[in-house]
Amino acid sequence: MSMELEALKREIEQCQDCKGRFGFPPKPIVHGHARSKMMQISQAPSRNVHLTGKAFNDLSGDTLKYKWYEITDEVFYDEDNFYITAISHCFPGKKPKGGDNPPPLSCARKWLEREMQLVDNELYIVIGARAAKFLFGNRSFEELIFANQVLKGKPAIVLPHPSPLNNRWFKKHPEFEAIRLPEIREQVLSLLER
Ligand code: SF4
Repeated sequence: MSMELEALKREIEQCQDCKGRFGFPPKPIVHGHARSKMMQISQAPSRNVHLTGKAFNDLSGDTLKYKWYEITDEVFYDEDNFYITAISHCFPGKKPKGGDNPPPLSCARKWLEREMQLVDNELYIVIGARAAKFLFGNRSFEELIFANQVLKGKPAIVLPHPSPLNNRWFKKHPEFEAIRLPEIREQVLSLLER
């Protein structure tokens, strides 16, 4: 399984399918190995991640790593801990009026299903409404966040996107940071300690 995943990762890293759609050369981001404890599936890399080639190397990542999980970069980027992927493996470009273009779902259909088959993770962490919709269909996003879920027969948790652009959602749902986030952090930290 491990060699198959490594071969798949090399294929993903060379993928340029969306070059015409984006108008610039795509830079696929994927990180982790077949025995990573947690598989984190977010929406798409940001421009900063595109420029640096390092997953979650941006303001959203700072919130996720340091404030939500309360872990260091060393722990976050340890491949034994997190397999980091997304429904779009590449930064999809900016909209003319601000914000990023939507992630191409063709990417998830082409790669994500196969990654999910090959990684022997113990927990899925799904980040953002678009990733949740792709994986859970039309279920209520709030309902998904505030209870533990099951995805492909494994435990799963769903997080809102940690982007500063999501502040309105956080203001509207103070119970996320007050109640749900400590529960999620405990699940993540207990897996990291094993
Ligand atoms: S977004 Fe996905 S399908 Fe498109 S170029 Fe990147 S890896 Fe390939």
